[in-house]
Amino acid sequence: MTIPYGRQSISEDDIEAVIDILRSDFLTQGPAVPAFERHLAEYCGARHGVAVNSATSALHIACLALGVGPGDLVWTSPISFVASANCALYCGADVDFVDIDADSRNMDMQVLRAKLKKAEAEGRLPQVVIPVHMCGQSCDMKTLSDLSRIYGFRIIEDASHAVGGRYLGQPVGNCTFSDITVFSFHPVKIITSAEGGMAITNEPMLAEKMAQLRSHGITRDKEQMRSSSPGEWYYEQNSLGYNYRMTELQAALGLSQAARLDEFVARRHEIADQYDTALAHLPLILPKRTEDAYSSLHLYVIRVDRTRGAADRATVFSRLRADGIGVQVHYFPIHLQPYYADRGFKAGQFPAAEKYYADAISIPMYPTLEWPEQKRVVQALERALIP
Ligand SMILES: *Cc1c(COP(=O)(O)O)cnc(C)c1O
Repeated sequence: MTIPYGRQSISEDDIEAVIDILRSDFLTQGPAVPAFERHLAEYCGARHGVAVNSATSALHIACLALGVGPGDLVWTSPISFVASANCALYCGADVDFVDIDADSRNMDMQVLRAKLKKAEAEGRLPQVVIPVHMCGQSCDMKTLSDLSRIYGFRIIEDASHAVGGRYLGQPVGNCTFSDITVFSFHPVKIITSAEGGMAITNEPMLAEKMAQLRSHGITRDKEQMRSSSPGEWYYEQNSLGYNYRMTELQAALGLSQAARLDEFVARRHEIADQYDTALAHLPLILPKRTEDAYSSLHLYVIRVDRTRGAADRATVFSRLRADGIGVQVHYFPIHLQPYYADRGFKAGQFPAAEKYYADAISIPMYPTLEWPEQKRVVQALERALIP
């Protein structure tokens, strides 16, 4: 039986919560979505949550709410899922990337600082920067926030990996150092709503805009209407929105899962501790946990160290797969995707990202992974790494 790199953990309570919705009056647009939004915003110590059908949708409406449009520029990390960059293109803006730091695998703040200086001289500064908390470990948000004040850009945290993580002792998502934070609830992430995402913010105007954009640009709130309401049937469309709504079924599952969020993350730390010890003797670069962050440990990415005599990544990867270990690679650098190459990006532009990608492998990491399975992963790696 193959051990996957990640999987959901569904309890009887989760199942009951979804069944309760099926027996209730509302399958969509009922009380579960706002309850999930309140719960997660409160958990993060933030004011507003806007739940949507995916983190991709959340990134899109977050960009729109911040006014991203044609002629604008958005910067993100090349080591991320493609959605981190696509969201800017949806708005008609351009995308560029900031190379990563080899240790944290997050956006490199020194590289960012230099790139901003150059962009300012060239008169082409980004309107929005989207840092990605790779594997659940927060970026250096304080430095990023300082830079945003100097150069006048807004910040959307792509925290798809990082719900339940902390930065400088505060929950990721409290938006102290950003305008909006986005979470994903895809089943491989930390908590799941099957599909789903949420945008968190402290700014009421941004929350209101995003809430309208997720539902056709429509408002039923009289305060938000341009003309006076002729009756209870009346609603107004004020902007061009979408149907990005989360269902009640998804919200009930997400809310039920959120009750175990801290437990899930703590369990991931136990598993990471065990890997740290059990893999220490192998020619691998193991993930470092930075001091300013408590990672949610969405992924455990090892790097094959060829300088210490390991076989190459492709060989190690295919041997692990053949051995029933469902490894994956996170991520193929976005700028090297054919679609982005068509837009003019080239190999060699973001060398740290490309170097990281060349020997990265994500090994199994999820709360119900037990020690006998972990031992199978370790033993398979011992065999797979032999040149
Ligand atoms: C998963 C993921 C997304 C997209 O999430 P969906 O909910 O599947 O749309 C975006 N960014 C990152 C970094 C992700 O890992």
